Amino acid sequence: MNEEHIVPTNSQANPSRQHFASDNYAGMCGEAMHWLAEANSSGPQPAYGEDVWTQKVSDRMRELFDTDCDVYFVFNGTAANSLALASLCQSYHSVICSPVAHIETDECGGPEFFSNGSKLLIAESESQAARQGKLTPEGIEQLVTKRSDIHYPKPKVVSITQATELGTVYGLDELKAVTAKAREHRLRIHMDGARFANAVASLGCHPGDITWKVGVDVLCFGGTKNGLPVGEAVVFFDRKLSEDFAYRVKQAGQLASKMRFISAPWLGLLEEGVWLRNAGRANAMAQRLHAGVQDIAGVDCTHAPQANSVFLHMSEATAKALRDKGWRFYQFIAGGGCRFMCSWDTSEADVDLLLADLRSNCSA
Ligand SMILES: *Cc1c(COP(=O)(O)O)cnc(C)c1O
Repeated sequence: MNEEHIVPTNSQANPSRQHFASDNYAGMCGEAMHWLAEANSSGPQPAYGEDVWTQKVSDRMRELFDTDCDVYFVFNGTAANSLALASLCQSYHSVICSPVAHIETDECGGPEFFSNGSKLLIAESESQAARQGKLTPEGIEQLVTKRSDIHYPKPKVVSITQATELGTVYGLDELKAVTAKAREHRLRIHMDGARFANAVASLGCHPGDITWKVGVDVLCFGGTKNGLPVGEAVVFFDRKLSEDFAYRVKQAGQLASKMRFISAPWLGLLEEGVWLRNAGRANAMAQRLHAGVQDIAGVDCTHAPQANSVFLHMSEATAKALRDKGWRFYQFIAGGGCRFMCSWDTSEADVDLLLADLRSNCSA
């Protein structure tokens, strides 16, 4: 194969106005590519996760979290969330989440399907935290105490997205308040961590501080959006809950027979802190974009970014002008606003080009 084809694309070498649509538009990082190639060149290995690479990465994950957790690998985040939630619920239970939660808005009913009907209960709230995509203790309290009769699906799980779908991050105190409320009502705690790395990079904490130490039972730890080719890890901190999880994964068609090609690239992220470096870079680019729009009349930021996305309000004419120039960004997330998502390989030049186009369209 031509060398050019195995080098990950880099936006500086290959500028792309599509870049801000999502962090899964980015390629894989060199470190992930390195371990993928190592796994490939090291000869045959047992299938279905019995290989040395999967063992190694799982051990590395236990070191990272500094606790004895169970680790599974699946192809995508929808499966990770759906199967994790199914393992926490019976079909007559319910899962409390925010109205903008990915499990509610973007998983095509996967959590309900894989749990055989567990209902998602949406915590409505007018609070500032809720407007920023977060669950609050009051929102949970309200749903849990509203009904206790046999006709209502019994609340069993609280699902927290960290970082949130709106690019905000639960601070340690906010998180503790939510998890304490969940514990008070004997609810299990699931964390959708599609952008967990961005949250840890933003908070500068230990990954254990915002997971098992505050009572998170299971974390869906995203790799795809942080430089992996494919794959998310499902990390059970309460190991009793992972009993039979392997069968769920298999039944759902999520058990990779050549598992090593999903697990080995994780070594690239976990060795030498690359997961935090990648996420930190994406976060920093969101800060750069946010800072850059402050003096552009006609562009308003809904809230300051804490992770790697920036939500902007602009006229439909400006949004169209950007699209006509080739920019790609989502406009359907959380009731309007244009979402600009930075990724591990977003460069200063990418951000500056976007700012320049925004500026020229707003003054036109
Ligand atoms: C991207 C994402 C997921 C996973 O989505 P898949 O496309 O199924 O991999 C899950 N949760 C959140 C918050 C996400 O942004």
